[in-house]
Amino acid sequence: MHITDYMSEKNWKKVLDFSEKLQTPCVIINLEKIKKNYLELKQLFPDADIYYAMKANPHEEILKLLIGLGANFDIASRYELDKILSLGVPPECLSYGNTIKKAKDIAYFYEKGVRLFATDSKEDLKNLAKYAPQSRVFVRILVENTNSADWPLSRKFGCHPDMAYDLCVLAKEMGLIPYGISFHVGSQQRDIGQWDDAIAKTKYLMRSLEEEEDIKLEMINMGGGFPAPYITPTNKLSEYAREITRYLDDDFGNEKPHIILEPGRSLVGDSGVLVTEIITISRKNNTALHRWVYVDAGVFNGLTETLNENIKYPIFTSKDESAGKWGEVVLAGPTCDSMDIMYEDYKYTMPISLKSGDRLYFLSAGAYTASYASVEFNGFPPIQTYIME
Ligand SMILES: *Cc1c(COP(=O)(O)O)cnc(C)c1O
Repeated sequence: MHITDYMSEKNWKKVLDFSEKLQTPCVIINLEKIKKNYLELKQLFPDADIYYAMKANPHEEILKLLIGLGANFDIASRYELDKILSLGVPPECLSYGNTIKKAKDIAYFYEKGVRLFATDSKEDLKNLAKYAPQSRVFVRILVENTNSADWPLSRKFGCHPDMAYDLCVLAKEMGLIPYGISFHVGSQQRDIGQWDDAIAKTKYLMRSLEEEEDIKLEMINMGGGFPAPYITPTNKLSEYAREITRYLDDDFGNEKPHIILEPGRSLVGDSGVLVTEIITISRKNNTALHRWVYVDAGVFNGLTETLNENIKYPIFTSKDESAGKWGEVVLAGPTCDSMDIMYEDYKYTMPISLKSGDRLYFLSAGAYTASYASVEFNGFPPIQTYIME
Protein backbone atom coordinates (compact mmCIF):
# COMPACT_ATOMS: atom_id res chain seq x y z
CA MET A 1 0.00 0.00 0.00
CA HIS A 2 1.47 3.33 -1.02
CA ILE A 3 0.06 6.80 -0.62
CA THR A 4 -0.09 7.27 -4.39
CA ASP A 5 -2.70 4.49 -4.54
CA TYR A 6 -4.99 7.04 -2.89
CA MET A 7 -3.77 10.55 -3.70
CA SER A 8 -0.99 12.37 -5.51
CA GLU A 9 2.29 13.10 -3.68
CA LYS A 10 1.47 16.76 -4.10
CA ASN A 11 -1.92 16.48 -2.39
CA TRP A 12 -0.43 14.33 0.34
CA LYS A 13 2.19 17.00 1.06
CA LYS A 14 -0.61 19.55 1.19
CA VAL A 15 -2.48 17.42 3.71
CA LEU A 16 0.62 17.08 5.90
CA ASP A 17 1.42 20.79 5.75
CA PHE A 18 -2.15 21.91 6.34
CA SER A 19 -2.75 19.58 9.27
CA GLU A 20 0.61 20.09 10.94
CA LYS A 21 -0.51 22.89 13.23
CA LEU A 22 -4.03 21.58 13.87
CA GLN A 23 -5.11 19.92 17.09
CA THR A 24 -6.00 16.27 16.68
CA PRO A 25 -8.27 14.51 16.18
CA CYS A 26 -9.65 16.38 13.19
CA VAL A 27 -10.99 15.73 9.73
CA ILE A 28 -9.63 17.80 6.89
CA ILE A 29 -11.67 18.10 3.74
CA ASN A 30 -10.57 18.77 0.19
CA LEU A 31 -13.55 20.39 -1.56
CA GLU A 32 -11.96 19.98 -4.98
CA LYS A 33 -12.31 16.21 -4.64
CA ILE A 34 -16.02 16.49 -3.89
CA LYS A 35 -16.53 18.72 -6.90
CA LYS A 36 -14.69 16.24 -9.09
CA ASN A 37 -16.74 13.32 -7.71
CA TYR A 38 -20.01 15.17 -8.25
CA LEU A 39 -19.17 16.15 -11.81
CA GLU A 40 -18.03 12.63 -12.62
CA LEU A 41 -21.29 11.15 -11.33
CA LYS A 42 -23.29 13.72 -13.25
CA GLN A 43 -21.40 12.87 -16.41
CA LEU A 44 -21.82 9.11 -15.93
CA PHE A 45 -25.57 9.43 -15.26
CA PRO A 46 -26.50 12.46 -17.38
CA ASP A 47 -30.26 11.95 -17.06
CA ALA A 48 -30.38 11.35 -13.31
CA ASP A 49 -31.14 13.86 -10.60
CA ILE A 50 -28.63 13.74 -7.78
CA TYR A 51 -29.91 14.06 -4.22
CA TYR A 52 -26.95 14.25 -1.84
CA ALA A 53 -27.57 12.14 1.29
CA MET A 54 -26.57 14.84 3.67
CA LYS A 55 -26.01 12.51 6.60
CA ALA A 56 -22.71 11.39 5.05
CA ASN A 57 -21.20 14.76 5.86
CA PRO A 58 -23.37 17.78 6.66
CA HIS A 59 -20.55 20.32 6.85
CA GLU A 60 -21.81 23.67 5.68
CA GLU A 61 -19.01 24.26 3.18
CA ILE A 62 -19.74 20.91 1.56
CA LEU A 63 -23.44 21.74 1.32
CA LYS A 64 -22.67 25.14 -0.18
CA LEU A 65 -20.37 23.60 -2.76
CA LEU A 66 -23.03 21.07 -3.79
CA ILE A 67 -25.74 23.74 -3.88
CA GLY A 68 -23.52 25.71 -6.24
CA LEU A 69 -23.19 22.64 -8.45
CA GLY A 70 -26.97 22.24 -8.65
CA ALA A 71 -27.45 19.26 -6.36
CA ASN A 72 -30.70 18.27 -4.68
CA PHE A 73 -30.75 16.88 -1.16
CA ASP A 74 -32.04 13.78 0.57
CA ILE A 75 -33.14 14.88 4.03
CA ALA A 76 -33.78 12.60 6.99
CA SER A 77 -34.81 14.87 9.86
CA ARG A 78 -36.23 18.30 10.63
CA TYR A 79 -32.79 19.35 11.82
CA GLU A 80 -31.24 18.57 8.46
CA LEU A 81 -34.20 20.34 6.85
CA ASP A 82 -33.67 23.52 8.87
CA LYS A 83 -30.00 23.52 7.99
CA ILE A 84 -30.44 23.05 4.26
CA LEU A 85 -33.28 25.60 4.06
CA SER A 86 -31.15 28.13 5.92
CA LEU A 87 -28.66 27.87 3.06
CA GLY A 88 -31.32 28.98 0.62
CA VAL A 89 -32.18 25.67 -1.06
CA PRO A 90 -35.77 25.72 -2.38
CA PRO A 91 -38.01 22.93 -1.00
CA GLU A 92 -38.61 21.56 -4.52
CA CYS A 93 -34.99 20.35 -4.42
CA LEU A 94 -35.55 18.25 -1.31
CA SER A 95 -36.96 14.85 -0.52
CA TYR A 96 -37.84 13.49 2.89
CA GLY A 97 -36.12 10.15 2.35
CA ASN A 98 -36.42 8.68 5.82
CA THR A 99 -39.25 6.18 6.13
CA ILE A 100 -39.18 6.52 9.92
CA LYS A 101 -40.83 9.81 10.76
CA LYS A 102 -43.17 11.36 13.29
CA ALA A 103 -46.50 12.72 12.09
CA LYS A 104 -45.57 16.17 13.37
CA ASP A 105 -42.34 16.09 11.39
CA ILE A 106 -44.24 15.24 8.22
CA ALA A 107 -46.43 18.26 8.90
CA TYR A 108 -43.33 20.38 9.44
CA PHE A 109 -41.79 19.32 6.12
CA TYR A 110 -45.08 19.97 4.36
CA GLU A 111 -45.40 23.40 5.90
CA LYS A 112 -41.89 24.21 4.66
CA GLY A 113 -42.87 23.24 1.12
CA VAL A 114 -41.47 19.71 0.73
CA ARG A 115 -43.70 17.57 -1.52
CA LEU A 116 -41.63 14.43 -2.08
CA PHE A 117 -41.66 11.69 0.55
CA ALA A 118 -40.36 8.13 0.99
CA THR A 119 -42.52 5.55 2.68
CA ASP A 120 -42.55 1.83 3.43
CA SER A 121 -45.51 1.22 5.76
CA LYS A 122 -49.23 1.73 5.99
CA GLU A 123 -49.05 3.81 9.13
CA ASP A 124 -46.52 6.18 7.62
CA LEU A 125 -48.56 6.43 4.43
CA LYS A 126 -51.68 7.35 6.37
CA ASN A 127 -49.74 10.08 8.12
CA LEU A 128 -48.52 11.33 4.76
CA ALA A 129 -52.08 11.44 3.39
CA LYS A 130 -53.18 13.42 6.41
CA TYR A 131 -50.24 15.78 6.96
CA ALA A 132 -48.78 16.06 3.45
CA PRO A 133 -51.88 15.80 1.25
CA GLN A 134 -51.44 15.38 -2.50
CA SER A 135 -47.69 14.97 -2.18
CA ARG A 136 -45.66 12.63 -4.34
CA VAL A 137 -44.61 9.47 -2.55
CA PHE A 138 -42.12 6.75 -3.44
CA VAL A 139 -42.17 3.36 -1.81
CA ARG A 140 -38.97 1.78 -0.63
CA ILE A 141 -38.59 -1.92 -1.30
CA LEU A 142 -36.50 -4.38 0.67
CA VAL A 143 -33.38 -5.69 -1.01
CA GLU A 144 -30.93 -8.24 0.35
CA ASN A 145 -27.45 -6.82 0.59
CA THR A 146 -25.74 -8.14 3.64
CA ASN A 147 -22.83 -10.03 2.13
CA SER A 148 -21.31 -7.67 -0.35
CA ALA A 149 -22.09 -4.30 1.21
CA ASP A 150 -19.53 -3.20 3.78
CA TRP A 151 -22.14 -1.10 5.56
CA PRO A 152 -25.53 -2.78 4.93
CA LEU A 153 -28.72 -0.73 5.12
CA SER A 154 -31.13 -3.63 4.85
CA ARG A 155 -33.85 -5.00 7.14
CA LYS A 156 -34.67 -1.77 8.88
CA PHE A 157 -35.95 -0.01 5.74
CA GLY A 158 -38.19 -1.02 2.91
CA CYS A 159 -40.99 -3.51 2.46
CA HIS A 160 -41.66 -6.56 0.33
CA PRO A 161 -42.68 -5.68 -3.25
CA ASP A 162 -46.17 -7.14 -2.60
CA MET A 163 -46.65 -4.63 0.16
CA ALA A 164 -45.14 -1.86 -1.96
CA TYR A 165 -47.82 -2.67 -4.52
CA ASP A 166 -50.57 -2.32 -1.92
CA LEU A 167 -49.08 0.94 -0.63
CA CYS A 168 -49.09 2.46 -4.12
CA VAL A 169 -52.75 1.52 -4.54
CA LEU A 170 -53.60 2.91 -1.12
CA ALA A 171 -51.62 6.09 -1.79
CA LYS A 172 -53.74 6.80 -4.83
CA GLU A 173 -56.96 6.08 -2.94
CA MET A 174 -55.92 8.51 -0.24
CA GLY A 175 -55.23 11.34 -2.67
CA LEU A 176 -51.44 11.09 -2.71
CA ILE A 177 -49.48 10.73 -5.94
CA PRO A 178 -47.78 7.35 -6.19
CA TYR A 179 -44.64 8.54 -7.92
CA GLY A 180 -41.96 5.88 -7.76
CA ILE A 181 -40.03 3.06 -6.16
CA SER A 182 -36.82 3.35 -4.20
CA PHE A 183 -34.22 0.97 -2.89
CA HIS A 184 -30.78 1.12 -1.33
CA VAL A 185 -28.53 -1.82 -2.15
CA GLY A 186 -26.32 -1.21 0.90
CA SER A 187 -23.59 1.30 1.45
CA GLN A 188 -20.13 0.57 -0.01
CA GLN A 189 -21.79 -2.07 -2.16
CA ARG A 190 -19.04 -4.01 -3.93
CA ASP A 191 -21.32 -6.28 -5.96
CA ILE A 192 -22.71 -4.34 -8.91
CA GLY A 193 -25.13 -7.21 -9.62
CA GLN A 194 -27.18 -6.07 -6.61
CA TRP A 195 -28.53 -3.20 -8.72
CA ASP A 196 -29.55 -5.69 -11.39
CA ASP A 197 -31.73 -7.60 -8.91
CA ALA A 198 -33.24 -4.44 -7.46
CA ILE A 199 -33.99 -2.92 -10.86
CA ALA A 200 -35.58 -6.17 -12.06
CA LYS A 201 -37.83 -6.30 -8.98
CA THR A 202 -38.76 -2.67 -9.52
CA LYS A 203 -39.61 -3.20 -13.16
CA TYR A 204 -41.84 -6.14 -12.34
CA LEU A 205 -43.63 -4.11 -9.70
CA MET A 206 -44.08 -1.09 -11.96
CA ARG A 207 -45.44 -3.22 -14.75
CA SER A 208 -48.05 -4.95 -12.62
CA LEU A 209 -49.18 -1.66 -11.13
CA GLU A 210 -49.66 -0.25 -14.58
CA GLU A 211 -51.41 -3.28 -16.01
CA GLU A 212 -53.63 -4.10 -13.08
CA GLU A 213 -54.27 -0.80 -11.36
CA ASP A 214 -53.64 1.76 -14.05
CA ILE A 215 -51.01 3.35 -11.82
CA LYS A 216 -48.04 4.55 -13.82
CA LEU A 217 -45.03 5.22 -11.65
CA GLU A 218 -42.57 7.67 -13.13
CA MET A 219 -39.48 7.38 -11.04
CA ILE A 220 -36.87 4.99 -9.65
CA ASN A 221 -34.77 6.20 -6.76
CA MET A 222 -31.68 3.99 -6.77
CA GLY A 223 -30.37 5.27 -3.45
CA GLY A 224 -26.66 5.32 -2.66
CA GLY A 225 -24.20 2.47 -2.35
CA PHE A 226 -21.47 3.64 -4.71
CA PRO A 227 -18.03 3.06 -3.22
CA ALA A 228 -15.27 5.18 -1.78
CA PRO A 229 -11.69 3.87 -1.97
CA TYR A 230 -10.86 1.92 1.20
CA ILE A 231 -8.58 -1.12 1.53
CA THR A 232 -10.99 -3.72 0.17
CA PRO A 233 -10.93 -3.24 -3.61
CA THR A 234 -13.97 -2.13 -5.61
CA ASN A 235 -14.72 -1.48 -9.24
CA LYS A 236 -14.43 2.03 -10.58
CA LEU A 237 -17.51 4.25 -10.60
CA SER A 238 -17.49 4.15 -14.39
CA GLU A 239 -17.96 0.35 -14.23
CA TYR A 240 -20.93 0.80 -11.91
CA ALA A 241 -22.44 3.33 -14.27
CA ARG A 242 -21.91 1.19 -17.33
CA GLU A 243 -23.47 -1.89 -15.78
CA ILE A 244 -26.39 -0.06 -14.15
CA THR A 245 -27.16 1.76 -17.38
CA ARG A 246 -27.18 -1.59 -19.15
CA TYR A 247 -29.60 -3.05 -16.59
CA LEU A 248 -31.92 -0.09 -17.11
CA ASP A 249 -31.68 -0.44 -20.88
CA ASP A 250 -32.41 -4.17 -20.70
CA ASP A 251 -35.41 -3.72 -18.43
CA PHE A 252 -36.94 -0.51 -19.74
CA GLY A 253 -35.58 0.09 -23.24
CA ASN A 254 -36.90 3.38 -24.56
CA GLU A 255 -39.34 3.88 -21.73
CA LYS A 256 -36.93 4.62 -18.98
CA PRO A 257 -38.35 6.14 -15.84
CA HIS A 258 -36.91 9.23 -14.30
CA ILE A 259 -33.86 8.29 -12.19
CA ILE A 260 -32.85 9.70 -8.83
CA LEU A 261 -29.51 8.89 -7.20
CA GLU A 262 -28.76 9.57 -3.54
CA PRO A 263 -25.01 9.33 -3.14
CA GLY A 264 -23.36 10.03 0.17
CA ARG A 265 -20.15 8.09 0.62
CA SER A 266 -19.02 8.16 -3.01
CA LEU A 267 -19.24 11.96 -3.16
CA VAL A 268 -17.43 12.86 0.04
CA GLY A 269 -15.55 9.75 1.22
CA ASP A 270 -12.22 10.32 -0.46
CA SER A 271 -12.27 14.06 0.22
CA GLY A 272 -11.37 13.61 3.89
CA VAL A 273 -8.39 12.66 5.99
CA LEU A 274 -8.87 11.95 9.68
CA VAL A 275 -5.74 13.05 11.50
CA THR A 276 -5.05 11.39 14.84
CA GLU A 277 -2.24 11.35 17.35
CA ILE A 278 -0.86 8.27 19.06
CA ILE A 279 -1.58 8.47 22.78
CA THR A 280 0.41 5.43 23.79
CA ILE A 281 1.82 2.16 22.47
CA SER A 282 2.00 -0.97 24.57
CA ARG A 283 2.41 -4.73 24.52
CA LYS A 284 0.19 -6.96 26.61
CA ASN A 285 3.05 -9.27 27.61
CA ASN A 286 6.79 -9.34 27.17
CA THR A 287 6.77 -11.71 24.23
CA ALA A 288 3.65 -10.37 22.47
CA LEU A 289 4.23 -10.15 18.75
CA HIS A 290 1.94 -7.23 18.18
CA ARG A 291 1.71 -3.80 19.74
CA TRP A 292 -1.43 -2.04 20.84
CA VAL A 293 -1.53 1.43 19.37
CA TYR A 294 -4.01 3.80 21.04
CA VAL A 295 -4.98 6.93 19.15
CA ASP A 296 -7.12 9.96 20.03
CA ALA A 297 -10.01 9.07 17.69
CA GLY A 298 -12.03 5.90 18.05
CA VAL A 299 -15.35 4.15 17.66
CA PHE A 300 -17.11 6.91 19.61
CA ASN A 301 -15.46 9.84 17.86
CA GLY A 302 -15.10 9.56 14.15
CA LEU A 303 -14.39 5.89 13.52
CA THR A 304 -17.82 4.37 14.10
CA GLU A 305 -17.73 2.54 10.78
CA THR A 306 -14.88 0.39 12.08
CA LEU A 307 -17.56 -1.50 14.09
CA ASN A 308 -17.16 -5.18 13.15
CA GLU A 309 -14.12 -3.93 11.22
CA ASN A 310 -16.56 -3.28 8.37
CA ILE A 311 -14.83 -0.30 6.82
CA LYS A 312 -11.06 -0.61 6.59
CA TYR A 313 -9.52 2.78 6.08
CA PRO A 314 -6.14 3.10 4.40
CA ILE A 315 -3.91 4.28 7.27
CA PHE A 316 -0.57 6.00 6.89
CA THR A 317 1.80 7.16 9.64
CA SER A 318 4.25 10.00 10.00
CA LYS A 319 7.07 7.38 10.12
CA ASP A 320 6.21 5.42 6.97
CA GLU A 321 9.04 6.91 4.94
CA SER A 322 11.78 6.17 7.46
CA ALA A 323 13.70 2.91 7.04
CA GLY A 324 13.40 0.12 9.59
CA LYS A 325 11.29 -2.81 10.61
CA TRP A 326 7.52 -2.97 10.58
CA GLY A 327 5.24 -5.05 12.79
CA GLU A 328 1.59 -5.86 13.34
CA VAL A 329 -0.61 -3.64 15.51
CA VAL A 330 -4.01 -3.64 17.15
CA LEU A 331 -5.60 -0.21 16.83
CA ALA A 332 -7.79 1.20 19.59
CA GLY A 333 -9.41 4.49 20.58
CA PRO A 334 -9.12 6.75 23.60
CA THR A 335 -12.27 6.01 25.64
CA CYS A 336 -12.82 3.77 28.68
CA ASP A 337 -14.93 1.29 26.76
CA SER A 338 -13.53 -2.01 25.54
CA MET A 339 -15.76 -1.71 22.46
CA ASP A 340 -13.49 1.13 21.46
CA ILE A 341 -11.16 -1.07 19.42
CA MET A 342 -11.02 -0.37 15.71
CA TYR A 343 -9.00 -3.25 14.31
CA GLU A 344 -7.94 -6.41 16.10
CA ASP A 345 -8.68 -9.29 13.70
CA TYR A 346 -7.45 -7.42 10.68
CA LYS A 347 -3.84 -6.56 11.45
CA TYR A 348 -2.40 -3.38 10.05
CA THR A 349 1.40 -3.25 9.96
CA MET A 350 3.22 -0.12 11.03
CA PRO A 351 6.84 0.94 11.59
CA ILE A 352 8.43 -0.33 14.82
CA SER A 353 9.87 3.16 15.30
CA LEU A 354 6.40 4.69 15.96
CA LYS A 355 6.13 6.60 19.24
CA SER A 356 3.45 8.38 21.18
CA GLY A 357 2.93 11.82 19.70
CA ASP A 358 3.36 10.51 16.15
CA ARG A 359 0.38 10.83 13.86
CA LEU A 360 -1.81 8.32 12.08
CA TYR A 361 -3.72 9.50 9.01
CA PHE A 362 -6.93 7.69 8.13
CA LEU A 363 -7.62 8.25 4.44
CA SER A 364 -11.03 8.27 2.74
CA ALA A 365 -12.50 9.56 5.98
CA GLY A 366 -14.79 12.24 4.53
CA ALA A 367 -18.02 10.22 4.94
CA TYR A 368 -19.68 9.05 8.15
CA THR A 369 -16.86 10.21 10.42
CA ALA A 370 -17.36 13.76 11.69
CA SER A 371 -21.14 13.24 11.63
CA TYR A 372 -20.79 9.95 13.52
CA ALA A 373 -19.39 11.15 16.82
CA SER A 374 -20.78 10.91 20.32
CA VAL A 375 -21.23 14.19 22.10
CA GLU A 376 -19.72 13.73 25.53
CA PHE A 377 -18.62 10.17 26.06
CA ASN A 378 -15.72 10.42 28.53
CA GLY A 379 -15.92 14.14 27.81
CA PHE A 380 -14.34 13.83 24.37
CA PRO A 381 -15.90 16.43 22.06
CA PRO A 382 -17.12 15.64 18.53
CA ILE A 383 -14.42 15.79 15.92
CA GLN A 384 -13.52 19.12 14.34
CA THR A 385 -13.61 19.54 10.59
CA TYR A 386 -11.34 21.89 8.64
CA ILE A 387 -11.67 22.75 4.98
CA MET A 388 -8.27 22.58 3.32
CA GLU A 389 -7.34 25.80 1.59
C1 LIG B 1 -27.54 6.79 3.81
C2 LIG B 1 -28.44 6.86 2.66
C3 LIG B 1 -27.93 7.15 1.39
C4 LIG B 1 -26.46 7.32 1.10
O1 LIG B 1 -25.82 6.08 0.94
P1 LIG B 1 -24.30 5.96 0.51
O2 LIG B 1 -24.06 4.50 0.48
O3 LIG B 1 -23.50 6.70 1.52
O4 LIG B 1 -24.16 6.58 -0.82
C5 LIG B 1 -28.84 7.28 0.36
N1 LIG B 1 -30.16 7.12 0.54
C6 LIG B 1 -30.68 6.83 1.75
C7 LIG B 1 -32.16 6.71 1.90
C8 LIG B 1 -29.84 6.70 2.84
O5 LIG B 1 -30.36 6.39 4.03
